[in-house]
Amino acid sequence: MEHLPLFARLTDRRCLVVGGGVVGTRKVRQLRSAGALVTVEAPSLTDELQRLADQGEIEFDPPGDSGNHARAIDAERLSRYWLIVAATDDKFVNARIASAADAAKRFCNVVDDPDLSSFIMPAIVDRAPITVAISSGGHSPVLARWVKGLIESWLPVRLGELAKLAGRWRARVSKTISNLDQRRRFWEQVIEGPVPEHVYAGRDVDAEVALDRLLAEWRSTRARPTGEAYLVGAGPGSADLITLRGRQLLAQAEVVLYDRLVGEEVLEFARRDAELISVAKTPGQPSIKQAQINRLLVEHVRAGKRVCRLKGGDPMIFGRGGEELEALAEAGLPFQVVPGVSAVEGCASYAGIPLTLRGAAQSVVLTTGHTERGIAEVSSFEPGQTLALYMGVARYAVLAERLMARGYDPETPVAVVERGTTKHQRVIGTVLGSLARAAEAHEVSAPALLLVGETTRFAERYSWYAPERLVLYPDPESLERAS
Ligand code: SAH
Repeated sequence: MEHLPLFARLTDRRCLVVGGGVVGTRKVRQLRSAGALVTVEAPSLTDELQRLADQGEIEFDPPGDSGNHARAIDAERLSRYWLIVAATDDKFVNARIASAADAAKRFCNVVDDPDLSSFIMPAIVDRAPITVAISSGGHSPVLARWVKGLIESWLPVRLGELAKLAGRWRARVSKTISNLDQRRRFWEQVIEGPVPEHVYAGRDVDAEVALDRLLAEWRSTRARPTGEAYLVGAGPGSADLITLRGRQLLAQAEVVLYDRLVGEEVLEFARRDAELISVAKTPGQPSIKQAQINRLLVEHVRAGKRVCRLKGGDPMIFGRGGEELEALAEAGLPFQVVPGVSAVEGCASYAGIPLTLRGAAQSVVLTTGHTERGIAEVSSFEPGQTLALYMGVARYAVLAERLMARGYDPETPVAVVERGTTKHQRVIGTVLGSLARAAEAHEVSAPALLLVGETTRFAERYSWYAPERLVLYPDPESLERAS
């Protein structure tokens, strides 16, 4: 390890920043956020620093007539400060400050010079009082910031509130559970139980009540866990399109019931020891029934498990999420629902098709090509409407006929997006009258989404994702050759 990470308490401790430019300002901001008393030494200040100096929030120490930072480079003077930051734009001056700080045995950070620095300021993920500091040892600040981004996305926004809650209860728990090992197990159970969920969802009172109950149960018997169901939308396929919240809940669940359309990469976010149960329903094949899925869900939650019901796309759009919620409500079990990027949103974005567009499309209808009733619900042709038809790949010929019978022009542009957002995405652009032939010629298979309407013609112009797998039917080049 090149550096030992430390968390310094700087409250009311004097720190010196030499340099009053943009970088100096950033350092002042960081030091002040930890409560330090900051002195800035510089010939001039940024507006922000000037304001702080005017308000007496920082001490401003301009160099005298003797010139540039001359006074800063003096070990005795520097020894008055706990930390020193050299943020001038003069490398030579910075180096002299660093060596004077060394002589004074004061830690010194030299901006953009890890070799001269005796301490570096890390990238920070702030969920105070939980703080994560990330450093690349000055080798690659960009990489450190990238890691920060990853960690930011893992940690719930209200994680700090959970730490504060634990802090408030610490003494009481210690009094109740005197054995250290036992106490650790209790806190592990708290972290893995329902308390964090209450905190993250802003149900602070429920969190206190749950913690109180856990402690009471711990005292009386072995603690009994409480189950909960999470109905989570996994997004349309690409693993990075699941929401942060969905990913957090997935990472907590002891049991995961997942659909066929859920990508394998998404399942990687589940806990290592989670029980993964596939409840795939394959179109046209005998498979698990919805009633069985409902039963499984209820059974596991009743047994005290946190069950993530992971569904492709959005759980409330053609996902039978409503039926599963009803089964849970009927059984009186708790649940949460996390939206997902539905196929219509994923496919439209990744195919470059605006679903609405001023002057061209003002409404979007989500429907299904799967059942007779589904297509019957598509009313007659409406100008300025984009249709998104889920499922029903095998019925595209019938679908096209029905739509034309309802007043759609055979020349209406359509796009079929197959396995949208995944690395296999394919987009087939054609017109309604040619849909059946296009689907057959290109052997379109599920999952695919059919988009109908004027804006689908933009798939050609705005194709940005896997553009090599955008095909037009009929192929314009072969038409040209033929004529
Ligand atoms: N709840 C899901 C829909 C489930 S119904 C959602 O909100 O997206 C299954 C249908 O969704 C498929 O038959 C297909 O029409 C569509 N679909 C799901 N994922 C898709 C994808 N990656 N590309 C194209 N269509 C998809």
